[in-house]
Amino acid sequence: MSHYDTKRWWPHESRFEIVVGAILVQRTRWENVEKVIEAMRSRGVLTPSAISTLDVLELERMVRPTGFFRQKSRRIQRLAHHIHLYHKGDVTCFLKRPYQELASDLERMDGIGPETRDAILLYAAGHPVMIADTYAIRLCDRLGLLDPVTPHAIKNHLMQHLPTTPQTCRRAHAAIVEHCKKRCCAVPRCSGCPLLDMCEHGATK
Ligand code: SF4
Repeated sequence: MSHYDTKRWWPHESRFEIVVGAILVQRTRWENVEKVIEAMRSRGVLTPSAISTLDVLELERMVRPTGFFRQKSRRIQRLAHHIHLYHKGDVTCFLKRPYQELASDLERMDGIGPETRDAILLYAAGHPVMIADTYAIRLCDRLGLLDPVTPHAIKNHLMQHLPTTPQTCRRAHAAIVEHCKKRCCAVPRCSGCPLLDMCEHGATK
């Protein structure tokens, strides 16, 4: 983890921004999400009550740069409605609940899969959860750590080998993403990789 700057990962000004960002980042790059979040922030619509009452076509226009804008707009609006209706629009009240209660609530919402759920649980709610995204799957597969490499096996493996604090989980997730973007890409750059000595794929290079 020390090879990458993981301390300022997922910058935000509110917990609701993290929740919205976790939906917007589905199937797109974070750079596209940042621009949309900034635009929403400057329009003053980053609250559950503002999103709930926003015209969906206007929301779609704002969200469009992240792709799949119709689905994402509806997912964000449904979640905002839920917080508005069941938690009086209070995002902290929605998030500050026991792990299982919040996780079950998120799982019942359309368009919130395991990766989005875990990102919200970890980054917005502060629960210690490892995120088994496509980067983690690629890295574990190449390292030869697990057989088979499944999201469930990755989460178990990481939870067994790292201190289970929210901070460690965030830093581990950030380090894995950074490593896979900078070095362990689709075509890996193994020469000089800090993990080369322990990597099954790297040993064949
Ligand atoms: S040695 Fe190569 S395949 Fe292994 S982790 Fe490093 S970059 Fe990825």
